[in-house]
Amino acid sequence: MDPDLSLRVWLVLALLACSMSARADSVPLVLTNATIHTQPFAAPIQNGTVVVRGSRIAAVGPSESIDIPPDAHLIDCRDKTITAGYWNSHVHFLQRKWARASDTSAAVLTTQLANMFTRHGFTTVIDAWSNHGNTQALRKRVNAGEVHGPRILTAGAPIYGPGDPPANVAAIWEALGFFSLDAIGIDRVATKADVEAAVVRRIERGVDFIKLYATSPGRGSFRIGEPLLKIAVESAAQVPVLIHPSVESALVAAVSAGADVIMHTTPQSGLWQPATVALMKAHDVALVPTLSLWPYEMRHERADVAERFAREAVNQLSAWVAAEGVVLFGTDVGYMADDDPAKEYALMAQANMSPAEILASLTTNPASRLGNADESGAIEVGARADLTVLGGPIDSALGFTDVRIVIQRGAVIYTRDD
Ligand SMILES: [Zn+2]
Repeated sequence: MDPDLSLRVWLVLALLACSMSARADSVPLVLTNATIHTQPFAAPIQNGTVVVRGSRIAAVGPSESIDIPPDAHLIDCRDKTITAGYWNSHVHFLQRKWARASDTSAAVLTTQLANMFTRHGFTTVIDAWSNHGNTQALRKRVNAGEVHGPRILTAGAPIYGPGDPPANVAAIWEALGFFSLDAIGIDRVATKADVEAAVVRRIERGVDFIKLYATSPGRGSFRIGEPLLKIAVESAAQVPVLIHPSVESALVAAVSAGADVIMHTTPQSGLWQPATVALMKAHDVALVPTLSLWPYEMRHERADVAERFAREAVNQLSAWVAAEGVVLFGTDVGYMADDDPAKEYALMAQANMSPAEILASLTTNPASRLGNADESGAIEVGARADLTVLGGPIDSALGFTDVRIVIQRGAVIYTRDD
């Protein structure tokens, strides 16, 4: 982040700290004169108005049809576009900067959340795994309104196969600046009883998802095969199960076992077999492509090698999109150091996703697959007032990056003027 932007963020946060508690439930917030995408595939409302009362949307429609409450706080959104708040469906709170979330200053955590998520428009993030206790502490402070940032849903600690991750990975991991793996509470399962116990323990601790590695990252060999993955899905019952595949065979096992979400494409496998795409479609699984992760992982390789690897993933997503499969936007930020989602949008467009399909991957798709029953990811009366305001239209992938205002549960948590 450049120093100017950093200063602006601090100023905004200082103002918010003063105004947040006062604003809250009493004064309605009204966004006027905007182009409003209430849903990804509906025609946008031109010159529309959204009224927010407390944490909910009270009204939305063409400006001439909306009564503006006399005491409202008005924000003129002329030339701007409003969408439902974005979801990033693959993130981590693994870097050491998140440690001791219970006693780190609110200003520091708010700035870190702004840099990683809020300034990019994210109002909900799916933590694919992390130190559960630490992430719970962070989430508690966000939910209390003391720290400003996105709503956090978490899988807690991951479930690996026996012997994973190996000891040398733990040492490398720490040298890279991540939490000690020992502190995270990883389970390594080898039997049906291990899987059942690991899943039940997580649900008792209040996780929102169960995350398993069918293979180790970067390896091709199975660590948790289809029968045990199936036990995990059955034990998790209504809690969605997220599975990391690495390779196509593990992807097939995960889908066959009943996984709800596949957390990556698998570029090392090359183009997926048509039967694999058909199986995914038949099981109605959702895919988080993490396309920008692959050039990042290959950043020390020769450019042509890295490009070829990244292209395999784009082609896999392209096949999934052609089959009308469900896509959830996700970047793996928090493992990946680069927090800018612009590359992900550009690569999704390369995989033939339209702006409406990208918007669905940011809003309605994750809300229906990973949210609560009352969440739609749309802008509608009664919905949680999570809104992302953009500087211009979303007629290309670039439009998603021009974030100007972010509203979470009815409170403005980020603004940028220029
Ligand atoms: Zn990840």
